[in-house]
Amino acid sequence: GETIGILGGGQLGRMLAMAAARLGYRCHVFAPERDAIAAEVCAQHTCADWADGAAMAAFAADCAVVTYEFENVPVAPLTALGGVALIPNDRALAVAQDRLNEKRFVTDLGGRLAPFHLVDTAEDLDRALTEIGSPGILKTRRDGYDGKGQWRIMTDGDADGVAITGVPLVYEGFVHFIAEFSVILCRGADGAIVFWDSAENTHKGGILDRSVVPASDGVQAQVGAARDLAAKVAEALDYVGVLTLEFFATDDGPVFNEMAPRVHNSGHWTVEGALTSQFENHVRAICGLPLGATALTAAHVEMRNLIGDAAEDWNTILADPANHLHLYGKSAARPGRKMGHVTRLGW
Ligand code: ATP
Ligand code: MG
Ligand code: MG
Repeated sequence: GETIGILGGGQLGRMLAMAAARLGYRCHVFAPERDAIAAEVCAQHTCADWADGAAMAAFAADCAVVTYEFENVPVAPLTALGGVALIPNDRALAVAQDRLNEKRFVTDLGGRLAPFHLVDTAEDLDRALTEIGSPGILKTRRDGYDGKGQWRIMTDGDADGVAITGVPLVYEGFVHFIAEFSVILCRGADGAIVFWDSAENTHKGGILDRSVVPASDGVQAQVGAARDLAAKVAEALDYVGVLTLEFFATDDGPVFNEMAPRVHNSGHWTVEGALTSQFENHVRAICGLPLGATALTAAHVEMRNLIGDAAEDWNTILADPANHLHLYGKSAARPGRKMGHVTRLGW
């Protein structure tokens, strides 16, 4: 088989490599950290940093195609990939790694978003609060995940305590949502799109806690409109692979939160809960293969994350035969760190 290159060496890369192996592909991950957890199931090219052009060129020379499991890879150094195709393309990466670009892009496509305002200076924050008001959330434009790089501004006075340090930010109005859900699609090389059922997602402390399928009726009523927007995004980017959009379900319909140009934590349930997982269809798409069916394998599927140092006994989880345990091979449990997940199927 051919070799697939993956930029990023975390659990998403690890699960992509496991799905690729079943289809006869080899994977090489490119990551700056030593002993990336993905490298326990495939080979690793360690780089000094993301701009290490010599290491990236050597990595690309081994690969038939390159994808990414991490959207914060800087775009400019990717020229070192030379003639090896990056799928999804670098435009998807550039749009999705900057919240402001992403919000403008989705607004232009007709999506509904919480009101937002760019914040580079303390004066910008004053303007944002005058225009949008509180409550709201100030977010770093780049590099945020799991709720990191966010400050909740519950009253206008809270803004006084926020130091604007020169990191580009965006302020967004707080959305009073009924529920949260995600749309995960896969677009093939031929432009065909498949969707998985939308999971209803709950978060704890800014981190995804659970994804449940089927979603509640109130959410399901909004999935159609959300899918239309997701398909528009995929087409506008000439996107190939798995794409995720997060939404708030509100009384006025779906409000776009953010997107991820990759497989997503709220799609981990598809490994056992769908006929073809998000990981396998991503591999199929980037390799130009036909996509697999996405229908449910059970009436009810629930995925919960195993987070941080909440000491759980794996044997207790495994003792229930309905549980499917996934551990990512991370050695040190730290607060807020995703150590694994458990998926339960129900009938
Ligand atoms: P990840 O990429 O890991 O999903 P993130 O750090 O990019 O997370 P967001 O998705 O922006 O963070 O926010 C995390 C959670 O915080 C959301 O899923 C939602 O529960 C809440 N949240 C974020 N923005 C808003 C908002 N404008 N109104 C209400 N709740 C919000
Ligand atoms: Mg995010
Ligand atoms: Mg999010």
